[in-house]
Amino acid sequence: MASLSFDTHFKDLFENTSDLIHFLTIEGNIELVNPAWLTTLNYQFYEVVGRSIYDFIHAPCMEEYKLIRNTVITTKESAEFVTTFMTKNEQEVIVEGQLGCSYTKDRPVYTRGVFKNITAKKIAEKKIEESEKRLKTFFRSGPDAVIVINEHQLILEWNPKAEIIFGYTANEVIGKPLSETIIPHQYREAHKKGMSHFLKTGEGPVLNKTIEITALHKKGHEFYVNLSISNVKVEGEWLFIAFLSDITERKKTEEALIRKEAELLKVKLLEEKKDEFISIASHELKTPLTTIKAYAQLALTFCTDKYPEPVQQYLSKVDEYASKLNFLINELLDVSRIHAGKLRLTQTEVEIDSFLPELLNSMQQITSNHTLTLEKNEAARVTIDTVRLEQVITNLISNAAKYSPGKEKIVVNSVKKDSTIVISFKDFGIGIPNDKISKIFDRFYRVDELSKDYSGLGIGLFISSEIIKQHGGKIWAESIEGKGSTFYFSLPVIN
Ligand code: ADP
Repeated sequence: MASLSFDTHFKDLFENTSDLIHFLTIEGNIELVNPAWLTTLNYQFYEVVGRSIYDFIHAPCMEEYKLIRNTVITTKESAEFVTTFMTKNEQEVIVEGQLGCSYTKDRPVYTRGVFKNITAKKIAEKKIEESEKRLKTFFRSGPDAVIVINEHQLILEWNPKAEIIFGYTANEVIGKPLSETIIPHQYREAHKKGMSHFLKTGEGPVLNKTIEITALHKKGHEFYVNLSISNVKVEGEWLFIAFLSDITERKKTEEALIRKEAELLKVKLLEEKKDEFISIASHELKTPLTTIKAYAQLALTFCTDKYPEPVQQYLSKVDEYASKLNFLINELLDVSRIHAGKLRLTQTEVEIDSFLPELLNSMQQITSNHTLTLEKNEAARVTIDTVRLEQVITNLISNAAKYSPGKEKIVVNSVKKDSTIVISFKDFGIGIPNDKISKIFDRFYRVDELSKDYSGLGIGLFISSEIIKQHGGKIWAESIEGKGSTFYFSLPVIN
């Protein structure tokens, strides 16, 4: 290699340029590199001199570099290319530059490389490329329809999701005014006004917020969308980017919910009216009925032998039916009390094993077709409202008798279980269908199939269950259709 003699200017350039310069022997070993080369790749001169240039080339670029260098040497034509060097601590440095060869009498003497470090530029380019790629992916396959319009309302962009949501392909709408496509007719004027108002004043009340609005499908039907619009100025012109999503399904659910709530409210209001009516009617009926009963009883006491026998019987019937009617009215009044939260208990401590047989005895007097058998009567002390508990037991026994016509037995058991006493009433009557059993304690519920054959209002079990609940107990039933039912209630026992 010819000795390198720089004059002052060239030496200055070699030492102070930011370009990376190297001189290599024809074999590819380093003879000389400039300070920019050393600092960029983080080496001292003594560490690199005499070493192969290929020790400093990034492995994937090696073959290409060799090829270019050989071509340059053989063709005598310098080459421009991009390659990657490696620093001492294994960092990639992307460079762009030129490789040339020097000859003496046609004999290649050395090769020279002058490269610019373009790593930062390449990284920035890569970042832009990636973010453009991300943006494109989002635009093409994001969850929303994306539509871009200019300030003349002309559509510039229309992504695939917009094609799906609105039914128009991009080709059909790009270049057309937005107001002629997806804006429903009733909003078109407002849209135009809004746009010119924005261009005049910069005020856009719908910009940069999410609103729910209807849009027009290509097929002509309107549907709900979520819309948010952002505006951006590009080269002096406003662009508007609209993100839209179809919310038809959500709207349908919301509307169904609103309808359901309205229906529930209607039912609730009707129920309240019904309760109010029951309460007023039963109060109004109670007074004249008490008077009828009082007069019937008074008339009975005045009935002497001089009145014919049937007169006494008729008066007794009046008294009996007035009592039945009174019982029903009392039940209705109880329903109103329960509804108003006014069913109050007056409780005392009672030995249930004394209370029960006594009550059954008196009930036996009026339950003429059935025999009440108390099979087990275990001792237990309970706190009860005796009148209300009598009401529950009377109701359960009357039901047992009413729903077991032609049968003779009703079996009662009172058995201690844990800290409760469980009292049961078993009949051998018509039973209750399995799917109805959970409803029989509901207010005004009667098993449909039976209601026409047996009189009743469907409130006895409702009242009973409220009374038992207020005693801190539970009430339930087991039944086999056609074979009979057993009703149970439990009460807490005092230890
Ligand atoms: P009511 O007997 O006046 O209709 P209840 O509230 O006492 O009202 O009873 C509700 C419903 O439960 C009855 O209509 C009847 O269908 C059913 N039911 C109650 N007790 C029995 C029973 N022992 N056997 C069969 N069905 C019964």
